[in-house]
Amino acid sequence: MECVTASPEETEALAAQLAARLKPGDVVSVAGDLGAGKTTFVRGAARALGVDGPVASPTFTIGHRYEAPTPVAHLDLYRFAGIHAADWGDLEPYFDGTIAFVEWPEHGGDWLPRARAAVTLSHVDETHRRVRIDDPGL
Ligand code: ADP
Ligand code: MG
Repeated sequence: MECVTASPEETEALAAQLAARLKPGDVVSVAGDLGAGKTTFVRGAARALGVDGPVASPTFTIGHRYEAPTPVAHLDLYRFAGIHAADWGDLEPYFDGTIAFVEWPEHGGDWLPRARAAVTLSHVDETHRRVRIDDPGL
């Protein structure tokens, strides 16, 4: 599906709709330029999955793992273009029993688990974003 949202709240609400269909073990890739709304999308999904407190892009680590009925992982691979299979031991806990969202999935290598759904965001104008959700798992 593809649509245009007119505010961050609309993007969060769209993410919540996707979140309702996700199961433990699912990985969602979230692609798009800087400022396209990737973290906003992940925040909306995480809230819908029961995460309280701030949801912001990881800066000093590769990811966050939030406690929730099903734990939620949020990875940002922007600075991690050089990840190799050998690093998998550090990464595996983020995917173990979680629903995982991955920003900059194109920076991941072969190690990145297969995404159940792929989200792509792009700028339309200052307040509008095109959101495409490919969910072949449905
Ligand atoms: P990214 O993680 O892709 O770099 P962020 O989610 O951190 O992007 O930032 C998106 C910025 O764009 C936020 O400041 C947000 O308020 C703003 N914004 C404006 N309109 C929208 C929209 N329709 N959907 C999502 N974010 C929007
Ligand atoms: Mg971000």
